[in-house]
Amino acid sequence: MGHYPRGGRALRGPFSRFATGDAVAWFEAHGLELVEEPDGRLFPRANRSQAVVACLRRAATAAGVRLHTGVSLLRATPSAGDGFQLELRRGSARLTMGAGRLVLATGSHPSGRQLASGLGHGLVPPVPSLFTLALTGDPLLALAGLAVDPAELELKLPDGQRFRERAPMLITHWGLSGPAVLRLTAFAARDLRTCGYRGELRIHWAPGLGPSELEHRLLACREHQARRQLGSWRPWPELSRRLWSHLLQRCSIPAEQRWADLSRLQYLALLEALRSSHHQVSGRGPFGEEFVTAGGVPLGEVNLATMESRLQPGLFLVGELLDVDGVTGGFNFQHCWTSGWLAGKACLEPPSAKD
Ligand SMILES: Cc1cc2nc3c(=O)[nH]c(=O)nc-3n(C[C@H](O)[C@H](O)[C@H](O)COP(=O)(O)OP(=O)(O)OC[C@H]3O[C@@H](n4cnc5c(N)ncnc54)[C@H](O)[C@@H]3O)c2cc1C
Repeated sequence: MGHYPRGGRALRGPFSRFATGDAVAWFEAHGLELVEEPDGRLFPRANRSQAVVACLRRAATAAGVRLHTGVSLLRATPSAGDGFQLELRRGSARLTMGAGRLVLATGSHPSGRQLASGLGHGLVPPVPSLFTLALTGDPLLALAGLAVDPAELELKLPDGQRFRERAPMLITHWGLSGPAVLRLTAFAARDLRTCGYRGELRIHWAPGLGPSELEHRLLACREHQARRQLGSWRPWPELSRRLWSHLLQRCSIPAEQRWADLSRLQYLALLEALRSSHHQVSGRGPFGEEFVTAGGVPLGEVNLATMESRLQPGLFLVGELLDVDGVTGGFNFQHCWTSGWLAGKACLEPPSAKD
């Protein structure tokens, strides 16, 4: 639940009914073989998302589901008795259809939020989550392609809020990406939006080394590698050459300078650059790169045991349409599998009485 910046606590109930192990078992029982990566991530053995689609289609066909693809739902109106009248579009043709139950699983598409709102639901305003950060004009961009594992990031927003993450990070052509940045932007998504995606970022390049260990590494170089040039001898071998040259430049220390000549001021500047280099966040990464939308139908308006609307009996709301979003690592998918499974089961039950 800690992996969900929004919705986490409320998901305790749904996850107690259908969690990751259940999803894995469901897929395997329906013929999709999964493999686990060393870091715990799960993929279909075929390593193609199409294998998941094929599995879901097979299961639907076997259960007698009739699929109508290429059809957009334009409007849903509650019928006088039970159920809904649906207005649909296929190409230029308009169609109507009756439905006893309606499950909206429209993801982050705006039409789903309009449909839910048309059926009486409130909406938490949508904002992007899980995105990369732009550092326009920052000399760090010269290191594009460099991965640092782990880096520790602290984001300070103009309103004083602070967010911290420690995980692998990637430098890109326009800024920063990788799990540390995606987690950071997920938890800060709403506040970053309010602050116009501006803030101050501090990077600790070696969070695995404690303060005294870091000092010790620099002083050991000065003492034991005194005749070597700073540019050719890094304080520890895992520190990237490109990053080390960048940090030397940042501190205005010539690469040809010998370790023996490192002044106290230069030593302090290097320590500061390694522990806490400051960068200005100028925006978020390219539009459309975000992975998930925060916001949507408030969870309080849904019965989380069945995913049925508390406002409109027979209507079920699942997946990203709800005000739930997770960080990377499959947490968004899991919430979708869980809510979809609960709604699917509940659809078979007799209709609930109107409040
Ligand atoms: C590039 C990318 C990578 C991602 N990687 C991961 C990952 O690794 N792990 C993870 O957990 N999550 C990941 N996510 C997030 C995850 O894919 C989504 O959260 C999840 O797929 C949402 O599922 P959903 O069923 O709610 O909606 P979707 O999967 O978005 O499906 C909604 C469907 O409804 C259809 N639809 C919408 N409106 C209408 C309408 N009015 N009429 C008819 N049809 C309509 C849409 O066309 C779409 O087919 C990723 C997202 C992106 C964009």
